[in-house]
Amino acid sequence: MTNPEAGLAVFGGTFDPIHFGHLKSACAVRDYLGVPCVKLVPSCIPPHREKPSSTPAHRLSMLQIATCEDKRMAVDDREISRRGVSYTADTLASFRSELGTTVPLYFILGIDSYVTIHKWHHWKGLTDIAHLIVLDRPGYLAEVSSEVQLWSQNRLVEDPNDMKHRAFGCICLVSLVQVDVSATDLRNKLKAGVRPTGKMPEKVIDFALKHGLYGE
Ligand code: ATP
Repeated sequence: MTNPEAGLAVFGGTFDPIHFGHLKSACAVRDYLGVPCVKLVPSCIPPHREKPSSTPAHRLSMLQIATCEDKRMAVDDREISRRGVSYTADTLASFRSELGTTVPLYFILGIDSYVTIHKWHHWKGLTDIAHLIVLDRPGYLAEVSSEVQLWSQNRLVEDPNDMKHRAFGCICLVSLVQVDVSATDLRNKLKAGVRPTGKMPEKVIDFALKHGLYGE
């Protein structure tokens, strides 16, 4: 039985498109933490990268198609509803206000995102709201700046049990599943007319092709 008091895990991203790197990682983190649900939160306008190729509505639909058969995975559209640039600090603050002060809130991100965290809006305050779960990712090195190293050193934990009795404040680097896939690679494949079988759900590929999301 899962217990809501075990906390909530939130996975943010552009998801342009959603792929098995996201989905398998989300499942693995959910089991690792023992939380009842992972919420996938697509950004509206990501602050630190080029404009997504597909619209927020199409990215949201792809997430819904990819997760609809898994009751322990949910899609949350608050960043899209909020419109404008999507700051993780705002999103986590909004989840925190719903959860109250004692329930653990976990924010999942890949190591490639974590190494840029010092450029994020209100980044030092993120661990005042949530724990950070940093995923290992094939092909990416954990080279963090000295500023992030200094900030993180008193927050790093290795055992997930160390986070369970605290609502926020820890950073945990995990190596759970290794899925060598990126959305960039999938957009390129779809653009070139190559069906990326095995890299993302078949129904999501069909949706992307039907709507011509990544074509010429
Ligand atoms: P792009 O290639 O367009 O940059 P992406 O594949 O990195 O996309 P995003 O939607 O930008 O996908 O990623 C959302 C989050 O998921 C980020 O924190 C990212 O680091 C993480 N992530 C993406 N792919 C993987 C993967 N294969 N394994 C682990 N984490 C991943």
